[in-house]
Amino acid sequence: MNKPFRIAMLGKQGAGKGTQCARISEKFSIPHISTGDMLRQAVKAGTEFGLKAAEYMERGDLVPDEVIIGTVVERLSESDALDRGYLLDGFPRTLAQAKALDTAIDGALKLVVNLDVATEIVLERLSSRRVCEGCGRTYSTSNPPTHGWTCDSCGGEVVQRADDKPEAISRRLALYDELTAPLIGWYDEKGILVTIEGSGDLDIVTSNIVQSIQSVVS
Ligand code: AMP
Repeated sequence: MNKPFRIAMLGKQGAGKGTQCARISEKFSIPHISTGDMLRQAVKAGTEFGLKAAEYMERGDLVPDEVIIGTVVERLSESDALDRGYLLDGFPRTLAQAKALDTAIDGALKLVVNLDVATEIVLERLSSRRVCEGCGRTYSTSNPPTHGWTCDSCGGEVVQRADDKPEAISRRLALYDELTAPLIGWYDEKGILVTIEGSGDLDIVTSNIVQSIQSVVS
């Protein structure tokens, strides 16, 4: 298994992409590149890029393609990604991003995992999700930290993400249907798409993803 892994994960917000990508990235020692995390870090650091992105993110809108594409392409040229490949989480999210990625890496994505979860389930997950502002650890209203809303790992404050509030959630899911869902057919036609049912037991979902990856990267 020494060929670079070049994998992208598609799925609605709340489908569990972040959790599954973290597990897969650890198992295969490949960089987990999450555009949502990159953007949240930039917002927190108050960079010019972060300030530009923040207003889109809070509304639940997508950050413009020209802003995100350059950042991702630059990240993919770093040595860990060149050596080992990468697991893209939250990118591409539009056809323009998918085409730019194809051009940047010479059309060489090996696998696109479509993590499929019904809308009613993601709505419930997103509205009950709470996140530590310090380390990003995720909780929910039914699985809160041990002491109030203070993170068990780092002591940071555990809050609801601005984009997990009801208006932003509807906006994000509508944009997913309009702009991201068409990528499922696009990658299927290229013969590199696998759909994994993502609402069941976490370990079973992970093991199904691992099997799909092992069948293409050998
Ligand atoms: P996520 O954590 O993946 O749900 O991303 C959080 C927010 O970051 C999204 O709602 C968008 O505002 C922004 N974002 C993340 N990835 C992208 C992307 N590929 N294109 C445009 N905006 C993005």
